[in-house]
Amino acid sequence: MTLVERFLKYVSFDTQSSEESGVTPSTPGQMAFAEFLKEELESLGLEEISLDEHGYLFATLPANTEKPLPAVGFIAHMDTSPDMSGKDVTPRIVENYDGKDIVLCAEENIVLSPSQFPELLDHKGEDLIVTNGKTLLGADDKAGIAEIVSAVVYLQEHPEIKHGKIRIGFNPDEEIGLGAHKFDVRQFGCEWAYTMDGGEVGELEFENFNAASAKITFKGRNVHPGYAKNKMVNSVRVANRFITLLPAHETPEHTEGYEGFFHLIGIGGDVEQTTVSYIIRDHDRTHFEDRKKQMERWVAFINGEYGEGTATLELHDQYYNMREQIEPVMHVIDVAFAAMKAVGVDPRVKAIRGGTDGAQLSFKGLPCPNIFAGGLNFHGRYEFVPVQSMEKAMNVIVKIAELIAAK
Ligand SMILES: [Zn+2]
Repeated sequence: MTLVERFLKYVSFDTQSSEESGVTPSTPGQMAFAEFLKEELESLGLEEISLDEHGYLFATLPANTEKPLPAVGFIAHMDTSPDMSGKDVTPRIVENYDGKDIVLCAEENIVLSPSQFPELLDHKGEDLIVTNGKTLLGADDKAGIAEIVSAVVYLQEHPEIKHGKIRIGFNPDEEIGLGAHKFDVRQFGCEWAYTMDGGEVGELEFENFNAASAKITFKGRNVHPGYAKNKMVNSVRVANRFITLLPAHETPEHTEGYEGFFHLIGIGGDVEQTTVSYIIRDHDRTHFEDRKKQMERWVAFINGEYGEGTATLELHDQYYNMREQIEPVMHVIDVAFAAMKAVGVDPRVKAIRGGTDGAQLSFKGLPCPNIFAGGLNFHGRYEFVPVQSMEKAMNVIVKIAELIAAK
């Protein structure tokens, strides 16, 4: 099978994950796909193949040189986003894209247009794999899986390229934030790894947010409104007072790049009690800790105004920036950088404004930056992937293996 054939086969599996199920994998379709992949890896003659009850599939391409080399892993996720159906995906290849609108579904007038998605024009002349407008495509992250398997096949067919032990890891439930939590880093046994889960060609990511959640509960005192003077405390008003204390511009809609924020994600309540929820995000660990302290100060301020015990704060750290785990091993980035350049790809280092499985894996002891897989417009009907981008990602994997051995 070619890279494209592999990709088209993989997206035929419905592997949409679900926030609701509470088990791993969260949906049975992911296990069916894992079993298919396991058979494929067996038929390719890979070694140390294991598939555990949670749907984590590992395999090894053994070293083809005696030289002592680190074992390095490549990781991709099998699930697709809960945001849109991944059932009956019917992909189509638009060959030699001419830069015009692509009609995905004529009857429902669903059009993939460069006027809405200007990044399409960066791929003029390439072959784009698109949806029929009714489902997502699943390039996130089946492009990554197809690239990794195809890179391994390429290395098998080119024994003149010397490489160390390569490990493959395919995991479930990345899209619901649970891809890494049951990932057995010790069994995987690599010095470091890369997730093939980024977007546009050249993306190389080793920074993400530090993240915490904050929940503030405001207690009020309800009294008949006709007799409430100097007695009633309306917790909705107290919550509103609190919200106005926070900096108006440090919100997701007013920040970009390395700017952190407080994001008000929910509010609910009545006179007696109101609960307000925030997420706190910052790439910089010191700023992140400061933001949490500020939260505490604002809560104390409210209690100073309305009386002790009016507001209570629950703060929980969610994840941390992997940069602090990657910095001591920057050669991991350097070799990816060099590999991209060697295959004609311009590396673009980008700080993720979110989390990643790789961050969790990095804190579990497996440094794990993220490399592009080539797909765009993830999680919806406008998702597409240029064939040439997948080929470049595959070439980067092969080149990383080659460069590590050449050191
Ligand atoms: Zn992904």
